[in-house]
Amino acid sequence: MKKRLLGAMLILSTGGMSIAQHKEQASEPHKDYPIQPVAFTQVHLTDNFWAPKIEVNADVTIPYVLRKCRETGRINNFLEAAGTLPGTRLTEFPFDDTDIYKVIEGASYALQVKKNPELERSLDSLIGYIAAAQEPDGYLYTFRTVKAPKPHPWIGKKRWEKEEDLSHELYNAGHLYEAAFAHYTATGKKTLLNIALKNADLLVHDFGYGKTEEYPGHQVVEMGLVKLYRATGKKAYLDLAKFFLDVRGPKGDSYNQANKKVVDQEEAEGHAVRATYMYTGMADVAALTGDQTYLKAIDAIWSDVVTKKLYLTGGIGATGAGEAFGEPYQLPNMSAYAETCASIANIFWNNRMYLLHGDSKYMDVLERVLYNGLLSGVSLSGDRFFYPNPLASMGQHQRGAWFSCACCISNMTRFLPSVPGYVYAQNNNELFVNLFVSNTATITLPAGKIQIAQTTDYPWDGAVDLKIDPTKATAFALKIRIPGWAQQQPVPGDLYHYADKTQAPVQIMLNGKPVPYKTVKGYAVFDRTWKKGDRIKVLFPLEVEKVIANEQVKEDKGRFALQRGPVVYCLEGPDNKDSVVQNIVVDKTAPVQASHKNNMLNGIDLLTVRGNATRRQLNSDALLRSEQDVKAIPYYSWANRGPSEMEVWIPYEESAARPKPAPTIATKSKVSASLRNARMYAALNDQYDPQDSKDNSATYLHWWPKKNTTEWVQYDFDQEHTVSESQVYWFDDGPFGGCRIPASWKLYYKKDGAWVPVNVTGAYELAKDKYNTVHFDPVTTTALKLEVQLPVDYATGIHEWKVK
Ligand SMILES: [Zn+2]
Repeated sequence: MKKRLLGAMLILSTGGMSIAQHKEQASEPHKDYPIQPVAFTQVHLTDNFWAPKIEVNADVTIPYVLRKCRETGRINNFLEAAGTLPGTRLTEFPFDDTDIYKVIEGASYALQVKKNPELERSLDSLIGYIAAAQEPDGYLYTFRTVKAPKPHPWIGKKRWEKEEDLSHELYNAGHLYEAAFAHYTATGKKTLLNIALKNADLLVHDFGYGKTEEYPGHQVVEMGLVKLYRATGKKAYLDLAKFFLDVRGPKGDSYNQANKKVVDQEEAEGHAVRATYMYTGMADVAALTGDQTYLKAIDAIWSDVVTKKLYLTGGIGATGAGEAFGEPYQLPNMSAYAETCASIANIFWNNRMYLLHGDSKYMDVLERVLYNGLLSGVSLSGDRFFYPNPLASMGQHQRGAWFSCACCISNMTRFLPSVPGYVYAQNNNELFVNLFVSNTATITLPAGKIQIAQTTDYPWDGAVDLKIDPTKATAFALKIRIPGWAQQQPVPGDLYHYADKTQAPVQIMLNGKPVPYKTVKGYAVFDRTWKKGDRIKVLFPLEVEKVIANEQVKEDKGRFALQRGPVVYCLEGPDNKDSVVQNIVVDKTAPVQASHKNNMLNGIDLLTVRGNATRRQLNSDALLRSEQDVKAIPYYSWANRGPSEMEVWIPYEESAARPKPAPTIATKSKVSASLRNARMYAALNDQYDPQDSKDNSATYLHWWPKKNTTEWVQYDFDQEHTVSESQVYWFDDGPFGGCRIPASWKLYYKKDGAWVPVNVTGAYELAKDKYNTVHFDPVTTTALKLEVQLPVDYATGIHEWKVK
């Protein structure tokens, strides 16, 4: 083959940054994403929203995660594998090595934004430990190398043997590559890159047709190999990424997307993070090889997700069972899983889809995830985290300081510094403005170098000023994204729509004068010769919108959500009367006011609307209503003031609300139980009937993981009452869960300070999916105790306990 030397300067895209390389190119044209992102290192944020969050990530979260990695033994895993530290005691999961890789990646990105010699030195020593833990042929997986006398059950006897199952050997490799690429790009040092290349060369040696024909149990290595290909130009890495996609399916499980060949997949199924990392890898390989069959598959899957499986917050993966996508329109709020990692993956994927297709609808999804379901994953303080991100709570959800599976925490550290990399993109002499945030950037188009400055208080204000300063008068097309949220289209497709069909148009002014514009693929296009000092002003209509879900989403029936610009709102206890929100009903046409609060939750726009609190009453099904102000905060900022009630979807129909209980003996009682978690007590007397015993959208109290013990709950009455009937509704999440109806139960009343069994007429009923009623000879007492004998192999739970 005749080779032509081009000596071309290739700008290699990485989906979040780019590196320049002098390369010798064959006559075959170099394929890549048609659109290239403008690297986050070229974009300097000067705003009050993202810049402070990225700073908290660098100053608080990254040092915190490094410290937790040390305290939890994650660093010791490497020292033991290297033999530097005696012993074979490992942490809990074979993928714990990835937390080190991900925090190195985050720290590397942070170093590019702000120099920090101390941090750079601690990365150097960490990388030294990793190098020492690597086996001579490149294999790197501490859980095998330590040679524990009793190896972790997820590890096979031989390398790769359980890879398709749970060993996570290739998952660890993928995160190593991503970290190595970031560290190399940030520091120019090849220390971690060389470790990664040695490991990747081993994979190239071991895997492939006619060699080990196995697919990764947890995808991510595909994306990582693509980055190594970008760093080195070595095609074997790209080929291996393609092999790992092509060897997948059709005889595996839908849990990890191995039930079909990847090119035959049309719907999002199974574990959401695995799936979405895979779709991202497919986009990378499609872009770099031109393979259209991958595109057909991910285009279909993308439509499936945005029209049927996407939370309004941008969260994906509705169910905790398998951390997976649910059925179409299965989007429960209180039990929503919506893992933080899945949000990060969703951003990676939508960015790649945009770079392939150049349509703003992908950026609409990306922006929605960014401002809502992703940002909710980390506290304002930077050291408390959510793994699942529910859309409703009775106060049972709380941010954690750490999780034994810490994937979401370390993932957040690496994601946040790269946010500026999503603001601009370029394609020949087209310059795309995708996100709105104050910044300055220098962008080199073929036509010339452009300085661009954005000034805005987005997302709190809809005015965006763009100052365009080319070095000399330059012809290029400026393409400004007109978000779907500003055009009656919160999300592409018909999953969500606005209750109010009128919306002010987006206005654009050029050098102070309104200009008409046409939109192409969601972008307002200004194709002209730009001179130094040219100004564009965009005015987005930042109105509060009430969003209605597709009627097939049964959990959102009779409810709306509040949204302003890209920000989704929620009601939370601390801002509302009596710290409760689930009982609130707001009319669909009620006007909503927005006001900026500088000192609240690091600065937010607070929404206020008149609504009604509802309460049940005795002897009537009608609800009592009392009017009150209802306040809403941005969803991402919830759970920063302790656990409390929260909801995104606000009832406009009374039937959707969860009224406060009527004043019965039970609701006026003080609850106690043989349980330490007092937050569960409220379930007993909230007068909220479950649909059946396994209904986990209703609140319940439970003793899991105890079994075969005797437990109790107790009502201390407000005064002496005469009672003769008790009803209890058991929580039973069989056959998969850990709770069953009890082996037996018994009631006691308090007499002269002692517990005396009541004298029942008939037997103690034991049945699922209904109230178990017992009548007894009337007793006059101040307290009743329900004693529960747990089954031999299971725990028990209680939805509701009534007393008459
Ligand atoms: Zn996670």
